[in-house]
Amino acid sequence: MEEFDVCIIGGGIAGASVAYHTAPHARVIVLEREAHVGYHSTGRSAAVYSPQYGSRLNRQLTAIAGDFLRDPPAGFAAARLLNPRGFLALGHDEDLEARREAITDAEATGNPLVPLTPSEVQSLIPFLKPESASWGLLDTHAEDMDVEAMLQGYLRGARAHGAVLRTNAEVLSLTREGGVWRIEGPDLAIRAARLVNAAGAWADPLAQLAGAQALGVIPHRRTAFICDVPAGTDLTRCPMTVWANESFYFKPEAGRLLGSLAEENPTVPGDPQPDELDVAIAVDRIEHVLCFEIKKLVRAWTGLRSFVHDRDPVSGYDPVTPGFYWHGALGGYGIQTSAALGAFAAHQLLERPLPASFAEAGIEAAQLAPARLQPHV
Ligand SMILES: Cc1cc2nc3c(=O)[nH]c(=O)nc-3n(C[C@H](O)[C@H](O)[C@H](O)COP(=O)(O)OP(=O)(O)OC[C@H]3O[C@@H](n4cnc5c(N)ncnc54)[C@H](O)[C@@H]3O)c2cc1C
Repeated sequence: MEEFDVCIIGGGIAGASVAYHTAPHARVIVLEREAHVGYHSTGRSAAVYSPQYGSRLNRQLTAIAGDFLRDPPAGFAAARLLNPRGFLALGHDEDLEARREAITDAEATGNPLVPLTPSEVQSLIPFLKPESASWGLLDTHAEDMDVEAMLQGYLRGARAHGAVLRTNAEVLSLTREGGVWRIEGPDLAIRAARLVNAAGAWADPLAQLAGAQALGVIPHRRTAFICDVPAGTDLTRCPMTVWANESFYFKPEAGRLLGSLAEENPTVPGDPQPDELDVAIAVDRIEHVLCFEIKKLVRAWTGLRSFVHDRDPVSGYDPVTPGFYWHGALGGYGIQTSAALGAFAAHQLLERPLPASFAEAGIEAAQLAPARLQPHV
């Protein structure tokens, strides 16, 4: 039996960021079932940091995380983690309600969006059909994220403080004996006082393994693809471009275009593969607004975005099962909020007062606590 203070189950961005912030003060192990970290949702994102995306709480957490991502500690990453991109919402006259909502939401967070005329939109996206949008709203603070550098930075930092990372380490049994968790799987025998459930789409089944009640963490499929663009297509100023009501989006990706239907279809935990119809509909919608045909798809993939019913993240101890810490339901915001949520979880696990940035943003632990989702408690 190996002994640790904190055992984190899940080697995605959630588990890695908690390990990073916890390891300087405790003996930490991260267990990942797959051969590689980041294999599931974390490796399948659109890699956009958008402070105007998601619920109010997600936006506040994204803003806090931005301070870390813009200026990470020395040695965290070899290059910048964020690079200017912009986030442009586009729509037509029939989508004016969506426009009003976006303006109101942005004003509430103190970062107003910049209204663009159709010709200003055209100057950013010269390959957009001019008649396809009558309004645009630009968030100039949105950036591209280097997700792999973030993941590796968190894990490298955790290891530098003695944390252990084990891949090919599937947890199959969780039992509590004498106030300590016993964590077992093939070639795994670990004891730890505290368990962190960072299992992403598998959060509920993992909790049930520990005898805790499921919270209703539901994974939702989202498919994306990368396609070639005709030679000479000017992608240099093209922002992350999202159609009103999030009916599809596209953004430049290393000289090509990344596109998505932005669908949100509930499913079960697993390793989802793209559905040909979802890809075809996405291609059709995106082609409809562009001046060129999408002739060659380089690749397509599907990932899971996991939500609880109020769509806010969960980070806190289970109210009934001792030493069992939930950290998930990160939806479509898990990368951009990771630096803030990882710090939040570490402070809770280490029983330290939260950093001032949380109080300044008006964030209280109860907003993230799993107890809010368990009406029987
Ligand atoms: C198409 C798409 C676009 C997205 N775009 C963005 C974006 O632009 N910006 C953004 O911030 N977010 C985005 N997201 C969301 C983001 O990817 C997720 O919120 C985030 O990756 C969730 O991280 P996680 O660590 O909770 O989950 P995961 O990365 O899935 O990690 C959970 C890990 O737990 C492991 N695990 C589960 N059960 C066990 C077990 N029993 N034993 C051991 N290990 C186990 C799994 O193998 C998995 O690796 C997007 C998601 C998708 C699908």
